[in-house]
Amino acid sequence: MLIDSHCHLDRLKLDSYDGDLDAALDAARQAGVERMLCAGIDLEHADAVVDLADKYQDVYASVGIHPLEKEAAEPDLQTLLHYAAHPKVIAIGESGLDYYYSADNKERQQERFRIHLQAAEKSELPIIVHTR
Ligand SMILES: [Zn+2]
Repeated sequence: MLIDSHCHLDRLKLDSYDGDLDAALDAARQAGVERMLCAGIDLEHADAVVDLADKYQDVYASVGIHPLEKEAAEPDLQTLLHYAAHPKVIAIGESGLDYYYSADNKERQQERFRIHLQAAEKSELPIIVHTR
């Protein structure tokens, strides 16, 4: 069984599939992918990511804020736990630390990461860590 453990289906460039996500998912399935984990990168799109997991039996979701999403709303524990209670949300993240492009938001990234870690601990879900 092949599992795509980290994809961003809500941000997929679908030019090769005439904009049709179903066609892209079918291509993945035909290549042997049986499960896909769509990793959320901000809370603004968390509902969309969870909706994809609701719509497709073989798609699962995670909720979190990517460390390079500088404009994203800050996570709060209650919101992350709210999404974590959804049966198709199987991880927290993606989250982590990335100072490659700039370190001007280092403390903010660290605080976000702490909240994600707390959410993972309280929900007993694994966390998807982006690190560079
Ligand atoms: Zn990612």
